[in-house]
Amino acid sequence: MTQELGTFAALGIHPSVLAAISAVGYEEPSPIQAQAIPVILGGHDMIGQAQTGTGKTAAFALPILSMIDPARREPQALILAPTRELALQVATAFESYSAQMPELSVVAIYGGAPMGPQLKAIRQGAQVIVATPGRLVDHLSRNGGLLSTIRFMVLDEADEMLKLGFMDDLEVIFEAMPETRQSVLFSATLPHSIRAIAEKHLREPKHIKIAAKTQTVAKIEQAHLMVHADQKIPAILRLLEVEEFDALIAFVRTKQATLDLAAALEAKGYKAAALNGDIAQNQRERVIESLKDGRLDIVVATDVAARGIDVPRITHVVNVDMPYDPESYVHRIGRTGRAGREGRALLLVTPRERRMLQVIERVTGQKVAEVRLPTPQQILDARLRKLTASLAPLAAEAEQSHGELFDKLIADIGCSPRALAAALLRKATNDQALTLAQIEKDQPLVPTGGGAPRERSERSERGGDRDRERRAPMPLAEGRVRCRTALGARDGIAARNLLGAILNEGGLAREAIGRIQVRESFSLVELPEDGLDRLLGKLKDTRVGGKQLKLRRYRED
Ligand code: AMP
Repeated sequence: MTQELGTFAALGIHPSVLAAISAVGYEEPSPIQAQAIPVILGGHDMIGQAQTGTGKTAAFALPILSMIDPARREPQALILAPTRELALQVATAFESYSAQMPELSVVAIYGGAPMGPQLKAIRQGAQVIVATPGRLVDHLSRNGGLLSTIRFMVLDEADEMLKLGFMDDLEVIFEAMPETRQSVLFSATLPHSIRAIAEKHLREPKHIKIAAKTQTVAKIEQAHLMVHADQKIPAILRLLEVEEFDALIAFVRTKQATLDLAAALEAKGYKAAALNGDIAQNQRERVIESLKDGRLDIVVATDVAARGIDVPRITHVVNVDMPYDPESYVHRIGRTGRAGREGRALLLVTPRERRMLQVIERVTGQKVAEVRLPTPQQILDARLRKLTASLAPLAAEAEQSHGELFDKLIADIGCSPRALAAALLRKATNDQALTLAQIEKDQPLVPTGGGAPRERSERSERGGDRDRERRAPMPLAEGRVRCRTALGARDGIAARNLLGAILNEGGLAREAIGRIQVRESFSLVELPEDGLDRLLGKLKDTRVGGKQLKLRRYRED
């Protein structure tokens, strides 16, 4: 049994924050959240030992938002993050968790962007400041009183911050805050230097750590694939082409993700269904029965919904979203390899989650080998293998039952046997690509996160090249063009919001829409070139998240 983590409501989260997290689709607190939230709500200083992927951002954001006074338009919470990327991520998380708090506003302060808009947001009364230390010190040198009203402060990824040499900046920042503030420090490791900071600047902090017991996972072959977060679905579709599975369970974190992945799998012809906490108990039981008896082959589930599933047919577990801790990983992958059978477990790892992979390897005492996406040639071989395997047992009997009909059709149509057989094949395979050239065209390479450079620090950005929003765009598939909208993450937009709007109002099939990349201040969507003007016409008045979409063709030269 997994541990029961209870509900967010029982932890004492404010109702408007509760409403927002339920809209985001979280079903229950992660272990670090279950431990940290009551401590922070209780007014204590805290040291949390946790890395990215454990849900640590919500562990401090939810209680802080629950305690903030939105009516006071002054800085109340300061979150310090080592990099611009993390600062933006944390700011976006605060924005989504405060979606039901209309008076609350969040400002992200980081180097490499003009100071004017950041100053303006502070002056307009942002209550939450998410900042990288260097830029915050620049602001403090102009306005020494900036942090005088801070009630809560969080040092996120403290060990990374020290590695980047922010020690002196941190001292300046601590000095600028009232001593009465509540302080929280999160760090993956607790070297001496971090303990020293805690000793000096935190008051009787409580320690929170998720105990990691060593676990055994015999008989299960494990592998991981590096992938960018927005490429998970295409990566899985490709992986599954070559995996020989009987039944498979895929784990994701949110209800919405169960629906998105199940829909993508169904569209590819898999017998797949979503399983999440919103689905009534009797319907859930029906899904599990169907998985047992083969009416379904794939179930996409959240951890909560998958509790207690014991289906011996399961040969594969795919961890699409990272589990919160090694225990949960071991529990998830234990769904395969039942009754002494062999099982296979796949884990998708985004560049930021590498550390969690190392923790899993350490706790389980096993290496989780890296796999690469199958090449078009491997996909072709697998498709042909499956086709042969499905036709071979039928051939002799079908000649008896359908042989005469075949001869008649040849005579009626007036074509060669080869032409008719080819037509039948095409129908039987639903026009699936069965040549190398076609597969290469259909499946532009999904770039993996393997070897992707680590995030740049604010320091390296200060003097150097601007903005990761400017990084080189991905190559386009033939027949597709890229379109741009000025709506981005800062407008609270996620890829699925854009997808939903374009599907509904543009009347397109899901497959017609390529990659969707949501950046901070804009988004890019790949659409079919053919009929583009008509499509953009249809989407002329479309609104997403209350704002006009205004999609335009994007010329990248
Ligand atoms: P973090 O460790 O804060 O970087 O969070 C990792 C990911 O987990 C983020 O994508 C969060 O949206 C997601 N997440 C955090 N808490 C929960 C939860 N209770 N249920 C589902 N997803 C969560």
